[in-house]
Amino acid sequence: MKSRILFLIPCFVLVTCSVDQDCQKADIILFNTKVYTVDDSNSIAEAIAIKGKEIVYVGDNKGVKNYKCSKSRIIDLKNGYIFPGFTDSHAHLKGIGYRENTLNLQGINSLKETMSIVEEFTKSKKPGEWIVGRGWIEKVWPEKRFPNKYDLDRFSKNNPLLLERADGHAVLVNSYALKLAGIDSNSIDPHGGAILRDKNGEVTGILIDRATNLVEKLVPKKTPEEDKFALEQGIKRSIKLGWTQIQNAGGSIQDLELLKKIKSEGNLLLRIYFSVSDGIPAEELLNKGPYLDKDNMLIARGIKLYADGALGSRGAYLKDNYSDSKTKGLLIFKKEETIPKLKDALKKGIQIQTHAIGDLANHITLNWYEEAFDSVPLEERSILNPRWRIEHSQNIQPEDQTRFNKLGIIASMQPSHAIGDLHFAIDRLGLKRIKNAYIWKSLLDQGALVIGGTDAPVEIGDPLIEFYAAVTRKDVDGFYTENWNLEQVITREEALKMFTIWPSYGAFQEKVRGSLEVGKLADLSVFSKDIMEISEEDILEARNIMTLVDGKIVYENL
Ligand SMILES: [Zn+2]
Repeated sequence: MKSRILFLIPCFVLVTCSVDQDCQKADIILFNTKVYTVDDSNSIAEAIAIKGKEIVYVGDNKGVKNYKCSKSRIIDLKNGYIFPGFTDSHAHLKGIGYRENTLNLQGINSLKETMSIVEEFTKSKKPGEWIVGRGWIEKVWPEKRFPNKYDLDRFSKNNPLLLERADGHAVLVNSYALKLAGIDSNSIDPHGGAILRDKNGEVTGILIDRATNLVEKLVPKKTPEEDKFALEQGIKRSIKLGWTQIQNAGGSIQDLELLKKIKSEGNLLLRIYFSVSDGIPAEELLNKGPYLDKDNMLIARGIKLYADGALGSRGAYLKDNYSDSKTKGLLIFKKEETIPKLKDALKKGIQIQTHAIGDLANHITLNWYEEAFDSVPLEERSILNPRWRIEHSQNIQPEDQTRFNKLGIIASMQPSHAIGDLHFAIDRLGLKRIKNAYIWKSLLDQGALVIGGTDAPVEIGDPLIEFYAAVTRKDVDGFYTENWNLEQVITREEALKMFTIWPSYGAFQEKVRGSLEVGKLADLSVFSKDIMEISEEDILEARNIMTLVDGKIVYENL
């Protein structure tokens, strides 16, 4: 007995010593869980340890014990499943924030209901005050028509009113706003835009693409404080849903400055990979070169261009007429302005991200990218492989599909667009062209890199809806239409990569994040269900329970 006590005491001392001195000290340990690492062999682990910003251990529950220290936060995650931090490759952070705080018309299922909500909102405004809302989408309404100015004029004689369609490519305005903008039946459509008219030539109140600016420019500008608040709201919402990075598709230099300020105040809880809008912001980025910060929290190295509009509002630019209209859509950018920008971008190491939906818009974008590549020799480029992207890559003719891989162009796609558009896309494109639309699998099979995003606030912006859409191609009620090409679904492993390691490559960050490996930055999404194993429907029942960004727990609801 005596000898045993003697034996125990030195042992206790030894253990204490080892905790303080030899312990490999992790700040956070997550164990008793399933870790999908997305490393080269897609290995699965039980535990992970994090020190500072980095992952220091990925392995089994036994091995992680070596990393425990008195100060470590140790979390038993038996009801959680760990994934590399989900990345939204295409979203609009400020818009997400504004959606949280303003007249939000998303998810309203009829024109009638939409109008009564707008009417109610209008009552609270003083005469002459602007009323701005967004998020309506007629494709799910039983009325089956675009709204028009008459729908609004009934209750808005004293206020200018502008309501943006969910896709951001069309607005509905009332007669008051049309009058302020000087738009009437004699007005001429601007380049890249359309003022819709009825059969008598009377303007309807719907403005498409570049025509939206005729009224939008009259809306009083948001203050920088309002913009900052919206960005902060966007960050909060994103980490709650499990996003660890937003790749922001276009914005101003002022937005970038606000994000820098948010970072300096310690509130940039999400990684941002920022691209600036065409025009003055693009010129400024081309002049100054990429903005790269050492900790990879806030990077601005891209320019967002627009080739065309959206499919729903028939602004997408097609080779042949729409199947349900005698139009081909609109080409927005001009060759003589774009090619010099592309060449300059290659020399300065700037990534180009071009919005292209229609088959002709995609074809032209690939042509112009190729022309720029051919005319700037490798020795004149800042980066040999510039990793340029086509945002949406929605409708692509077979002869163009192979060019993504050949030219090294990344297809940046949004699975939720497909499941939202399935209600009208066949009407717009017809049965032959629909085979070339939302073709994640064909592009992957042809060796292209496909990165996944949400386009929020155009879509809801939930990582689990995107994952579900990528692997099912059905809407959230399990619905799909005939001829909807279900063979374009991808595997869960592919879908996971589409939102983790591949978008990291799309942002030149695959060496530092996107998979869970020792030495990489600790960005993790923890979901309540094993989305790699459960039934399709159950994926939508899962929720994010913890988000880690840069080694910090930025959201938890265990
Ligand atoms: Zn977008």
